[in-house]
Amino acid sequence: MDRKDTLIDRRAVVGRNGLDALIATLRGEGYAVIGPQARDGTIVYDPIDSTADLPIGLADDQDGGRYRLVEGAPGALFGTTVGPHTWKRYLYPPRQALWSATADGAEGGFAVTVPDTAAPRYAFFGVRPCELKAMAVQDRVFGAAPDAAGRPADYTDRGYAARRAAAFIVAVNCGRPGGTCFCVSMDGGPKAEAGYDLAVTELLGDGRHDFLVEAGSERGAAVLAGLPGRRAEMRDLTMAEAALLHARTAMGREMVPGVADLLAGNLEHSRWDHVAARCLSCANCTMVCPTCFCSTVEDTTDLAGTTTVRERRWDSCFTLDFSYIHGGSIRRETRSRYRQWITHKLSTWHAQFGTSGCTGCGRCITWCPVGIDITEEARAIRDGGPSGGGGHTSRKEG
Ligand code: SF4
Ligand code: SF4
Repeated sequence: MDRKDTLIDRRAVVGRNGLDALIATLRGEGYAVIGPQARDGTIVYDPIDSTADLPIGLADDQDGGRYRLVEGAPGALFGTTVGPHTWKRYLYPPRQALWSATADGAEGGFAVTVPDTAAPRYAFFGVRPCELKAMAVQDRVFGAAPDAAGRPADYTDRGYAARRAAAFIVAVNCGRPGGTCFCVSMDGGPKAEAGYDLAVTELLGDGRHDFLVEAGSERGAAVLAGLPGRRAEMRDLTMAEAALLHARTAMGREMVPGVADLLAGNLEHSRWDHVAARCLSCANCTMVCPTCFCSTVEDTTDLAGTTTVRERRWDSCFTLDFSYIHGGSIRRETRSRYRQWITHKLSTWHAQFGTSGCTGCGRCITWCPVGIDITEEARAIRDGGPSGGGGHTSRKEG
């Protein structure tokens, strides 16, 4: 078999029944298949049994501080983009027991139990390219991947690494961006480039509705070979490319170039006061961000005083307690906390992890109750004055 044949064999066109067969195959192999579903007026990631559970025929309307599910293309399976959930809730759960200690009856004696970190086998179905990139970012944070020079991490979160290694990833390329997306300027999308087992592009229009499926790994190719479908042809690839081009050119926002140096050079800019006057320090932006990883550790003792459980749970750099060090918080003002968040995310993260901490998914803009926009804040700093670009001038002209 020559290289051309190999490439063709790694691409197939399937109908909706092919995607149902994919979900059934993964379930049959023991994976818990998690996918997008419409619930409570938004999109959540929960277990799915078939494509019938997907948000069929829906799209989303997103802007700063605004999210609505709306009618989309009839029958479309992947017409919505990202909602408030991220895959990190499965790889890096919001609460996780680290160990527990139980009095064993002897004077001052206790037994320590460490929970089994054996990975649940997840298949993530419908992972967007910006979310794939976010997983790669968290792989660096949790030591599950080597650095750019190939050096292994000094410390590894074994639970994260095990869950990540076991996960089967079905990515979905984006045919339309959400209203707050800016993945193109963060090199985060709209096409899945790496880190997936299978990547799906929905081909909808011109009287057809099917799916181009591409294998990105050997285990993906093995699953693809068992699905009902046909070999991809040039017309399929052309249609998929056209959908991606549409997403690329319809991107509503962009990050200013050179933002890492820009922020590092403006730590005392007056814009920090301007954003602090609006920011509620509510931490929503960090909770919905697919790369944010701040955590705290909590011990809980039962009422009898015999068992204590130590848990790690998500925290946020927007809380006062997060920077509490021997007698006080070092980031007492909202100005300091917002500056910490955005400069870490877009600037100092590079030195720490060799990558940006932002993939341009837009969640922090959509789910900020007062519509603070990370692209607008960066642009305002570049443009000088405290009010900078103001309003929605961070949206791309034209
Ligand atoms: S900082 Fe905002 S746009 Fe960037 S990855 Fe996090 S939530 Fe998405
Ligand atoms: S930027 Fe918005 S979402 Fe983030 S803490 Fe401030 S008000 Fe909350």
